[in-house]
Amino acid sequence: MRAVESFRRKRADEIETMREAGRILGACLAHLAEQTRPGITPLDLDREAETFIRDHRCVPGFIGYNGFPNSLCVSINNEVVHGIPTDRVIEEGDLVSLDCGLILEGWWADSGLSVCAGEPDAEVRRLLDVTEEALRRGIEAARPGGFLGDIGHAVQSHVEAAGFSVVRQYVGHGIGRNMHEAPQVPNYGRPGTGNLIKPGLVIAIEPMVNAGGAETRVLEDGWTVVTVDGRRSCYFEHTVAITEAGPEVLTARPQPATAGGGAG
Ligand code: MG
Ligand code: MG
Repeated sequence: MRAVESFRRKRADEIETMREAGRILGACLAHLAEQTRPGITPLDLDREAETFIRDHRCVPGFIGYNGFPNSLCVSINNEVVHGIPTDRVIEEGDLVSLDCGLILEGWWADSGLSVCAGEPDAEVRRLLDVTEEALRRGIEAARPGGFLGDIGHAVQSHVEAAGFSVVRQYVGHGIGRNMHEAPQVPNYGRPGTGNLIKPGLVIAIEPMVNAGGAETRVLEDGWTVVTVDGRRSCYFEHTVAITEAGPEVLTARPQPATAGGGAG
């Protein structure tokens, strides 16, 4: 027999509430991504996030979390994660990472994305493509009967094949009544290692990908994580429930409406 797990799996009714929390967060982030253009400030985006969350009868989970002051983390260019929103004006070509969390009826959703304000240069375009694809592969590996190391391996191998680095100091995590629960979900690892993945596990998978080296440090504000080499960093995150049928992304974002509409 395997060792007893240190984390509790969620029941179907609990996942149902998390699904609704995730749906609202996905819509919130789609809205914020749309707003992220040259000329806007991180504080503007933070206010948009807080308003959206409260308008949907949810609680902005980040406010006061370990003392974090805002509803949204905004990390720009060489900033990796945990950026505190300021009135710095976002400029053409900035790579902007948005991380947001909310609570619905006591249940968390945690998700984020990077977006370029204006036109991305070649490196930013590739960082965005590689990181989003790494997340997609990580999610695909989150199958019942697999192992957490399969997720990390899927992310790491894709990122490193592209010549980029995965951040190791920060990892994905279980999520539920708390934002950060066991188990940890690293963005690196070996297949077939770590906890067994079972239905009812709900995790946040969040690759942080650096254009240069993997090393990071925290600024004097005690929050903002930056790359040591000053090169840019990119991040995508989804809250994912493992069901009998496979991984279900709870924080999927609605697709932008296309001209002429269409079914589905
Ligand atoms: Mg997050
Ligand atoms: Mg997270």
